[in-house]
Amino acid sequence: MAVRDWEAVIGLEVHAHLKTRTKMFCRCELEYGAPENTRTCPVCLAHPGALPVPNERAIEQTIKLGLALDCGIAARAIFARKNYFYPDLPKGYQISQYEAPLAGRGRFRLPRPDGDREIGIVRAHLEEDAAKTVHAGGATGRSVGADYSLVDFNRGGTPLVEIVTEPDLRSAEEAVWFLRLLRQTIVELGISDAEMEKGTLRADVNVSVRRRGEEGYRPRWEIKNMNSFTFVGRAIEAAIRQQVAAHEAGEPVEQSTYDYDADTDRLTVHRSKEEADDYRYFPEPDLVPVEPPAELVERLRAELPERPADRIRRIEPAVGFDAAVELVTTGRDRLYDRLVAAGAEARVAANAVMNEVAAAGIDPEAVDAGELAKVLGARERLPRDVYLEAVARSADPGFAAAPFLEQEAVSDASALEPVVEAVLAANPEQVQTYLGGKEGVLGYLVGQVMRETRGKADPRVVNRLLREKLRA
Ligand code: ADP
Ligand code: MG
Ligand code: ZN
Repeated sequence: MAVRDWEAVIGLEVHAHLKTRTKMFCRCELEYGAPENTRTCPVCLAHPGALPVPNERAIEQTIKLGLALDCGIAARAIFARKNYFYPDLPKGYQISQYEAPLAGRGRFRLPRPDGDREIGIVRAHLEEDAAKTVHAGGATGRSVGADYSLVDFNRGGTPLVEIVTEPDLRSAEEAVWFLRLLRQTIVELGISDAEMEKGTLRADVNVSVRRRGEEGYRPRWEIKNMNSFTFVGRAIEAAIRQQVAAHEAGEPVEQSTYDYDADTDRLTVHRSKEEADDYRYFPEPDLVPVEPPAELVERLRAELPERPADRIRRIEPAVGFDAAVELVTTGRDRLYDRLVAAGAEARVAANAVMNEVAAAGIDPEAVDAGELAKVLGARERLPRDVYLEAVARSADPGFAAAPFLEQEAVSDASALEPVVEAVLAANPEQVQTYLGGKEGVLGYLVGQVMRETRGKADPRVVNRLLREKLRA
């Protein structure tokens, strides 16, 4: 028995801070990095009698996200109280959504080399984030060994959307790929910066394993608040290894919460998971249900940009899976699209965008695609350095291809012949090596001719001439 006899079953709960000006239920401004406890008010500090007022923008953004995830949008969504005690939660409950989330069942098409996988979305609901606890003092400043804890209430009440997937992911690699593409989808909707390093995107990872072919699921481990793609992948791998070992040894695997320790690359039990009932969810009495008007939903639907997964699928037939993924995940596919629309050949455009344009460090959005398409069309007859210079200039204001196209490579054989002969005469050793069967030296000889012509010679013609002369 080995890990490969087992299949991983993974479901994610992804939290993203929404990009609103103010908090979810009060008018405090959200400002990352503001001095601690300077963005608070009676509502987000839970003073008696303070009442929440929902943030309309956050509701719209959640609907937008729901639509992008093909979710059904609730006609009547309900805020609910999720009760628990913790110093970062001054009300003693978090306002969330439970039975009637804004966005219900949906699906996410995940492009894979061998076709799309469909990842079920259970729900996407709107809630408020807790405040931030900082464990301070002590030798390390970490929670273990800290002398005391401080709470920064600036973050308390930040609008947070939670996306819950079905347990449809089947490997660490697939889960990380899903998370990356979901993140890009969220960012492109303009509703969140979704930066793991800043904590504006966090994921809880649920993992179990089962024997290949087995029906049903086994108990899962939940790894909370992962804040790096790398650690999400490693934590899943660790969970798979540890669970397979336990199952094979006949040891019990119980549902509980685990922490990932990067130093040991192992998971350790955090605490056993509370049942949903422990939270004593009930409808928030201070808020009326949210009833999004159909016109609003349709307007938001019309505003949706083409999703990254859809773009990958659209351009894949022309450039292949890997290139499509690279173009879309680097956000360079828009330039690719514009080049193709301007008449460039798909693979030529894809390669130029991923290689020369990327290496030139220019802003793809600023590139004049019509002019660059002309350069790409002529690139085979342009000297390499002229071609690269043209690409590097293609984002300059007023860029024109014409002056570059005039500098065609010298492909006139009669002009190149004397240079080729001179190079052969100057390199008798290489010529002997070539004639001895080592054809690899041809590249060196081509290089010499290119040098003599300062890159202006057409390498294909040089190649042909060299072969002819060496055969004679
Ligand atoms: P809870 O309400 O206790 O958080 P859910 O049923 O809502 O539990 O599931 C939470 C997450 O766990 C979801 O992302 C779901 O896909 C995932 N999940 C549920 N069962 C399993 C399992 N057996 N293995 C892996 N993931 C699971
Ligand atoms: Mg949950
Ligand atoms: Zn406030």
